[in-house]
Amino acid sequence: MSESSALPASVAVGIIGAGAMGSGIAAVAASAGHRVLLHDADARAIERALGRLASEFDRQVEKGRLSAEESSARLARIHAAETIEALAPCGLVIEAIVENLDVKGAVLKRVEAVVGLDAILGTNTSSISVTAIGAHLARPERLVGMHFFNPAQVLPLVEVVSGKVTDPVMAKTIFDTAEAWKKVPVHCVSTPGFIVNRVARPFYGEALRLLSEGAGEPATVDAILRDAGGFRMGAFELMDMIGHDVNYAVTCSVYDGFYQDPRFTPSLLQKELVDAGWLGRKSGRGFYDHTVPAPPAADALPAAAPLQLTIEGDLGCAAALAAMATGAGIVVERIGGSGALRVGGVRVALTDGRTATERAAETGEPFVLFDLALDYASCTRIALAAADQTNSEQLAAVVGFFQRLGKVVSVIDDAPGMVVMRTVAMLANEAADTVQQRIASARDVDLAMRKGVNYPLGPLAWADAIGVRAISTVLENLAAFYGQDRYRLSPLLRRRALANQSLAG
Ligand code: NAD
Repeated sequence: MSESSALPASVAVGIIGAGAMGSGIAAVAASAGHRVLLHDADARAIERALGRLASEFDRQVEKGRLSAEESSARLARIHAAETIEALAPCGLVIEAIVENLDVKGAVLKRVEAVVGLDAILGTNTSSISVTAIGAHLARPERLVGMHFFNPAQVLPLVEVVSGKVTDPVMAKTIFDTAEAWKKVPVHCVSTPGFIVNRVARPFYGEALRLLSEGAGEPATVDAILRDAGGFRMGAFELMDMIGHDVNYAVTCSVYDGFYQDPRFTPSLLQKELVDAGWLGRKSGRGFYDHTVPAPPAADALPAAAPLQLTIEGDLGCAAALAAMATGAGIVVERIGGSGALRVGGVRVALTDGRTATERAAETGEPFVLFDLALDYASCTRIALAAADQTNSEQLAAVVGFFQRLGKVVSVIDDAPGMVVMRTVAMLANEAADTVQQRIASARDVDLAMRKGVNYPLGPLAWADAIGVRAISTVLENLAAFYGQDRYRLSPLLRRRALANQSLAG
């Protein structure tokens, strides 16, 4: 490991913009021992920020997380800077002002004129090209993206973003400094959405498409993502929390940034919410009505479990179901085959991106598909989709089987790829493209998604756990079903699937 080039605590840090992000970043830098000079065009914003930080530190003292001495020391390290000129002694100046290229460029140009030649400039932009901001500077090589997540004091991830001419030595200094500030930094190249805001798009996008296709209601899709997929929040509740204006704007910005790549096509359903002012929690209404308790997910009614079943071949990442069935007192017969269960006269298989109806048509048998789960043994819910050729008694036998294993069952419409599998396959596909295009390393992409948006596994490691071939089959089947470029397979994923090699490794 190379030696840390973190800026020592003796280096003063300037922050421009004392809003939500700037005040949080000021707290992080002050906690690491730096003298912080906080500037804002609006002097009242600095006062408000200092007041907010004082009460936040007080709360931490009350909770016993911080000593009273340390709290006062941190506050004493943060000073108001009335002018940009007052930032002259800073060795690092991070801007967290309005998200506007020309304004950011003009402010950083003024900073450049007053700080020392070896000072590093940082931008907390979430969507503007670091290269384009740098073009306003005489020495653009010293501008590095330092993208914190909100709230900066709490969320560990920092994307260290290099523009076209950013000096790699400065990027490393920022990376090491973020680490010294007890953050989890990742390196990436400046491209639309950087890592997290790009790779996370399918999490929202596929849920919105499933809703628009009538696959399931938001409460049911959310419950499946949480209870089967292991995501901390479902896509609809998360969009309601982020705010649809913000989430929709990020999607549009990534979509436009990639020249309308259909991978990122925004959703009309979400645009309707924005147009109606249904922005989510902050306006009281989004996909959910936040003035009343959330509606329950649609759960299947209790059904009788089969006494015996047959497992044909290898169930792949769902292999745990065999032992679980035996453990639940069901007699299991094992025979060779292509990886399916037979419950009564019904074929039951993990989704491979084709619909159950298509598979029933191919085999001439009733078919029920089950969705991906993060861990079949510990998940509390499983989603099923029945072929149109499958009747309600046949479906009930499969529902009864999963209920006997202790799972709550959600029956969704027969949508290709279902909920968790489709989401994870598309996340892994985007992650693979991000790696292949040399935007970030596989390690950093997975780390960013775990630390930035709390995914239970990095998408690449998740694809490895499911099987890279299985994931590529899901995507190929989705592409064939929809006939859309949105589901095209990442070249890296295709290669790794053919070579049967890990994506994350
Ligand atoms: P905010 O509106 O809370 O704060 C912005 C502050 O900048 C305000 O106090 C404003 O007075 C000040 N300001 C505006 N123009 C200025 C100028 N020319 N000179 C000096 N001060 C000026 O905004 P925020 O949410 O803190 O976002 C700031 C930046 O961080 C944006 O670039 C945003 O994209 C990015 N960001 C935001 C989030 C988030 O979730 N809010 C997350 C990551 C990054």
